Amino acid sequence: MEKRLIRKDALAGVVKRMAEGRSVLGPVRDGDNVLFEPLEGRDPELAFGNTRNAPKNALFPHTETLVRFLRTPRGMEFAADADEPESAVLFVRPCDARSFVLLDKLFDQEKYRDPYWVAHRERSTVVSLACAKPPYAACFCTSVGGEPVGAEGADVLLTDLGAEVLAEFLTPKGEALLPAFEGARPADEAADTRREEVRQAARGAIRSTIPAREVKPILDANFEHPFWNTLHQSCLACGTCTYLCPTCHCFDISDEQKGDDGVRLRSWDSCMFPLFTKETSGHNPRSSQKERWRQRVMHKFRYYVDNFDAIACVGCGRCVLNCPVNLDIRKVVSDIAKL
Ligand code: SF4
Ligand code: SF4
Repeated sequence: MEKRLIRKDALAGVVKRMAEGRSVLGPVRDGDNVLFEPLEGRDPELAFGNTRNAPKNALFPHTETLVRFLRTPRGMEFAADADEPESAVLFVRPCDARSFVLLDKLFDQEKYRDPYWVAHRERSTVVSLACAKPPYAACFCTSVGGEPVGAEGADVLLTDLGAEVLAEFLTPKGEALLPAFEGARPADEAADTRREEVRQAARGAIRSTIPAREVKPILDANFEHPFWNTLHQSCLACGTCTYLCPTCHCFDISDEQKGDDGVRLRSWDSCMFPLFTKETSGHNPRSSQKERWRQRVMHKFRYYVDNFDAIACVGCGRCVLNCPVNLDIRKVVSDIAKL
């Protein structure tokens, strides 16, 4: 595996060189927020904790054209979206890089292969910015199979060692970015030792832990438990938790037509919304927020484990930090473990 050490103040140049012929997306300041967006010439906030929005938008866009259609005298004609996505480099934190691997299990499985997700994945290179200092008290990646200096899902892992940054090129896609690291020097053994120290310290700095792996059998046995009757009561059904979540992936498909021209669109949806499961008849099998909250928990900690042997949460803490009524998935999971 190729490894390089580069001065921290040379990273801006690396990013600029990466942007030649590719789009680069990463954390950029937007007023009081830091958002994951195309840089478009802006400097990335590489030292910032994590972006408010998850980077899933780059691979699973908020709204995406699936197909264009045209009504003609010969019948309907269909065409793929004309805009071919260009190759991209995504600067993300390790929890978010891991979320891509979790979503691969759903969107790129043997039986069902989502060509849109796969195309975005193939054209993207993931550069993971290790959390040498885990940014938030709400981070709990180590409880759900991740770690702050984890490499899962990364093509390149960057670890801040002080004055220098260690770049580990983990895949052929990552190695293709080597020329952008102009001026970097080969990493020595001392860098490996230092990286291991940073990794251990970062793991130890994660303060939040939850019994995420223990709740699956409890959820299996407690679909009708009275616990679900009160949990949801303060929920506003705003969907913030699911829209910001890097692993939530529910979507809706709609057709929009003007004259003879039309598009079929895929747009994010949320199990927190009352309309999500409403049927054409007017019947809604998840008729209250109780069923919707139960679904969110069951999907992440029970059904995903059943289907893919993985918890559908990377412990990024976004839902904890941004829920307007302070509903906290860490507390919910801890309470379930006590049922
Ligand atoms: S962010 Fe909070 S209030 Fe909004 S839907 Fe999620 S749990 Fe409910
Ligand atoms: S459920 Fe919450 S903590 Fe887990 S990945 Fe989604 S937003 Fe992050």
